[in-house]
Amino acid sequence: MGERSPLNGSYRPARWALWQRPPKWIAVTLTAMTLNIGWAVFAACTQPVTTKHLGVFALITALAVAQAEVSRRLERQRRTLAIGPHVNMTAVWLLPAGVLLPVQLVAVLSATLYVYLAFRSWSGTRPGEAHRVAANLTTASLSACSAGLVTLASPELTVAVVCGAALVYFTVNTLLTGLGLYLANPAKATVESCLGGLDDNLLELATLCVGGLLVMVLTQEPLLSVLVILPLYVLQRSMLIKRLEELATTDQKTQLLNATTWSDSAQREISRAERERGTFGALMIDLDHFKHINDTYGHLAGDDVLKAVAAVVKQETRAHDLVGRFGGEEFVALLPAASKEDAVVTAERIRQRISELIVQTHTNAGAAVAIERRTASIGVAAYPMDGSSIEDVMAAADAAVYEAKDTGRNRVVGSVPKTSAQPAPASTTQAVAGTSAEQPVRGPAEESVAPGCPATRPELAAAV
Ligand code: GH3
Ligand code: MG
Ligand code: MG
Repeated sequence: MGERSPLNGSYRPARWALWQRPPKWIAVTLTAMTLNIGWAVFAACTQPVTTKHLGVFALITALAVAQAEVSRRLERQRRTLAIGPHVNMTAVWLLPAGVLLPVQLVAVLSATLYVYLAFRSWSGTRPGEAHRVAANLTTASLSACSAGLVTLASPELTVAVVCGAALVYFTVNTLLTGLGLYLANPAKATVESCLGGLDDNLLELATLCVGGLLVMVLTQEPLLSVLVILPLYVLQRSMLIKRLEELATTDQKTQLLNATTWSDSAQREISRAERERGTFGALMIDLDHFKHINDTYGHLAGDDVLKAVAAVVKQETRAHDLVGRFGGEEFVALLPAASKEDAVVTAERIRQRISELIVQTHTNAGAAVAIERRTASIGVAAYPMDGSSIEDVMAAADAAVYEAKDTGRNRVVGSVPKTSAQPAPASTTQAVAGTSAEQPVRGPAEESVAPGCPATRPELAAAV
């Protein structure tokens, strides 16, 4: 079976996948395309193209195609593994084009580059229908043409002009891409999903820095510009390695540490605590009656709840705490240098926040639902009082979770160190906090009822 071409599908306009997109996205995209084409046509009627322009255009096109070929496999893998906005290398070529060439040639170069990449590097990777390629090339072209406006203020190519052009490119590109991503799915849009993370933006700035240098090289020593290809290859390769590292260490559903990485990091933490005679707290968090969510609304809705809970656990812990997804609906957190009392306070904050969560999601049938009043049982243990190895500490936290489940769920239970346990106890844990009653499992009709988790709580820390 051949690869799926990015521009395949029906040629009949009525059947274009474009019309499946949200109406506002279609309106903004078509407006941007019209603006881009109109600007290029206007420039073609008013701005002469010189032989020098054609020479620079040919050189940039040749370099861009050569670079795309050299790093074709890298680009393909990066795009396959990307989540959110994918930063490609086109700004390296389009910024110099915007500064040095008339708008009509910038538009032609953008179209050439994106169509070339779509066929050679992206086909068979992420969905790459024609309308996506067209929207991306329009964004890139408008960014480059806008960058070129800076040269109107000062035709002489000074450092300030090149930096200003790069800044305009970055701003226009970020705004148009962000708007497109937001309109594509407003319900799930976040600042990061629309504007990209720090790394994405740094990469975009890095490509613009190379593009800025290229402006100077193209005007002074054009043939030296070939030296840019190797650094770009290395940059793309290092980005791919970083992404592979992220995938190997991160749980893709929740973006927390995966179980293996969490255990490795926890081992390092126990060695550090041993050396420094320090302490740490450990939380085992298990969502209550989670299966009911899957059974009632479907696994995708369950996944949205997992993501929301993961975000809460991350928010309620410190940047250097180790937060991971242990498996299914179980999360773990290791709090370096925290006492058990501190850990119980953190656990209680997390329990409270989870019980107040309202997760807006969809059933398998596509109906919107608000899943709320979900709860978690949290077991807390600490090093060294609950064990001298990470396995012992986590076993103590796990036993505390079972105690929390047995005593009514939606509660935090601190493990009682084995040495201080009462003779022949029913369990090795002691409840330190709990709500008055377990949350009943409710049917879909009750899910839209306003939340109201019982919250009368004894003094936590004193009870550990
Ligand atoms: P309890 O209060 O006793 O913990 O009950 P529970 O339903 O939360 O626990 P149980 O172990 O019976 O069920 C856990 C469920 O978690 C079963 C499984 O289908 C679901 N699950 C595990 N991993 C995932 C996942 O990645 N996504 C979704 N949606 N569900 C998952
Ligand atoms: Mg479980
Ligand atoms: Mg559970």
